[in-house]
Amino acid sequence: MKLVSSRERYRCPIFWVTEDVAVDPDGFEIRRSIVQHGGSAVMMPLDRRGRILLVRQYRLPARRRLWELPAGRVDRGESLLAAARRELAEETGYRARKWRKLISFFVSPGYVAERMTIFVATDLTAGPATPMEDERIEHRWFTRREMEAMIRKGRIVDAKTILGFLVWERYGLRRRGRR
Ligand SMILES: [Mg+2]
Repeated sequence: MKLVSSRERYRCPIFWVTEDVAVDPDGFEIRRSIVQHGGSAVMMPLDRRGRILLVRQYRLPARRRLWELPAGRVDRGESLLAAARRELAEETGYRARKWRKLISFFVSPGYVAERMTIFVATDLTAGPATPMEDERIEHRWFTRREMEAMIRKGRIVDAKTILGFLVWERYGLRRRGRR
């Protein structure tokens, strides 16, 4: 497929929307409105006891507060890892000495261009959080068992959080010889 046109229809501070057309040599055409996005870093902070730090904030699309892994947009010109460090400190006050990339994925590739990359952050030190003006974020540590129960019971419904936890349980622990 070849992108033949992309026209901006809307722009706001977090994303912009384009109307895109792609065609292949047979003339098959796809036309879609696309939510364009510079990508996000997601952080999975782990303490020495293997607990996971989640944040909770009100999410307008969900119409309620959600427990999630901390995450944030990558600024223009910023690396993924730099964004992860900055967002973790802003949202939770924690700084991590060790960072490891866990997985990268498209959030909803039918119409959203956002790609998320999850990092496991360990060797943490606490500090003051500095959230944005329109963010009110609480945070709490959860054990693996608590996370599993919350996912099974539908109390964690955020995709990046479920995916990050399950991928880490499946691949992350074993690599570190904990299983
Ligand atoms: Mg955030």
